[in-house]
Amino acid sequence: MHHVIIGNSAAGIGAAEAIRQIDKEAPLTIISDESESAYSRALISYELAGWIGKGNLDLRPREFYQEKNIAAHLGKRAIKIDAGKKQVHLNDGSRVDYDRLLIATGGSPQQMGVPGEDKKGIFGFRNYRDLLNIYDAIITAEHGVVLGGGCIGLQAASGLHHHGVKTSIAIASAHLLSQVADAECGDIYQRLFESNGIAIKTSMKPVEFRGVGQVGSIGFDDGSEMPAQIVISGKGVKPNTELAEGTKIKVDRGIIVDDRMCTAEPDVFAAGDVAVTQDCVTCESTVNAVWPCAYEQGRTAGFNMAGRDRVYDGSMRMNAAEFFRVPLISIGVVKPQGDGYEVHSYLDKSRMVYWKMVFKGKLLVGAVLVGRVERAGVLANLMRKHIDVSSIKGELLAGRYNYALIKPLAEGAE
Ligand SMILES: Cc1cc2nc3c(=O)[nH]c(=O)nc-3n(C[C@H](O)[C@H](O)[C@H](O)COP(=O)(O)OP(=O)(O)OC[C@H]3O[C@@H](n4cnc5c(N)ncnc54)[C@H](O)[C@@H]3O)c2cc1C
Repeated sequence: MHHVIIGNSAAGIGAAEAIRQIDKEAPLTIISDESESAYSRALISYELAGWIGKGNLDLRPREFYQEKNIAAHLGKRAIKIDAGKKQVHLNDGSRVDYDRLLIATGGSPQQMGVPGEDKKGIFGFRNYRDLLNIYDAIITAEHGVVLGGGCIGLQAASGLHHHGVKTSIAIASAHLLSQVADAECGDIYQRLFESNGIAIKTSMKPVEFRGVGQVGSIGFDDGSEMPAQIVISGKGVKPNTELAEGTKIKVDRGIIVDDRMCTAEPDVFAAGDVAVTQDCVTCESTVNAVWPCAYEQGRTAGFNMAGRDRVYDGSMRMNAAEFFRVPLISIGVVKPQGDGYEVHSYLDKSRMVYWKMVFKGKLLVGAVLVGRVERAGVLANLMRKHIDVSSIKGELLAGRYNYALIKPLAEGAE
């Protein structure tokens, strides 16, 4: 039984480890178009911000592949799956036979669709190569602009600022963090970034990158222009689903999988940022592109590939970040649309403390925590397990909650 995994990151490594837990001998191949051994993508922003030393991104020791008896084809791109012949075609002309295949190809930054986007000095913030390119560019860049005000955009901006680049953030939406939190939370971070010397411009879209060869400024739809010798796009990520073409694999935003991470093509699985799974809070099918979900989905796929039946109990949207020492956690439904929701919040602007809880019927379905986040896991547990919180709602709203409080309820729900 030859297991082949395309993708060498959270989902791919999760799958490889699960397969080896069950079967130490079966041939196992990992293919990745990145030439580095597995590293933690999330740590790219930590490194740029100076929180960790350079080159400390390893997800597993470099000996991992040898120790686990894994054939690693690094620096090679899978360009086609021939499901009939059970082969993966690589960009060097070679082919790899598989019995069971996992697509763990993650996502790529979305194109902005703005003229001049191919100029030098414009980067995504997704992989190690981006990080190295950014290091090169900041040597000479005086001004930097980050386009996008989500967690990754804010992390990129903090990183540029750390390296002495005069940094601005420009966003199309009315407030920062519009995908993961609400206006109150966005305003807290806007004040925080501005007070640290990072300018924020809202409700404006880039229309042109200007400069000869190298970007020098950005033109916006309100007629304004910002100088920028380095631009980082934090516009969001698109699942890398191209390998599904010409197969029976169904794609709707990402690759559709069942609760065992199987695609519609026999013996082909998908996991991680490329896969659409059921959100365990909203019960909607979605791509929850976060590290713990990718790893767990990879493990689920790996167990099933190796013949051990394992059901994935659903993904959960949970973003955790910290900017200028003010932590943020956002879980589940934070901007409820429609009827039936009950929202409670508390804001202390001077201490930069904010929380918001969203209830639907007897359930807690969403939370935003800013400043004080240490018991976020308790709330996440209540959401993940669909625990009836009516008897402890008062305690939740008063901030008097901990694991001891929810233990009996959690046991009752199991
Ligand atoms: C800067 C940054 C910060 C982040 N911070 C956090 C955080 O704090 N917390 C959190 O939970 N998540 C965070 N994330 C998200 C997290 O990193 C992803 O959810 C996770 O990496 C997804 O893992 P994956 O294995 O599904 O895909 P990826 O990590 O995207 O890996 C997919 C791999 O497959 C390779 N590949 C793609 N196509 C092919 C092909 N055709 N052939 C061969 N190889 C291919 C890619 O090059 C890549 O190496 C962050 C992401 C970034 C970019």
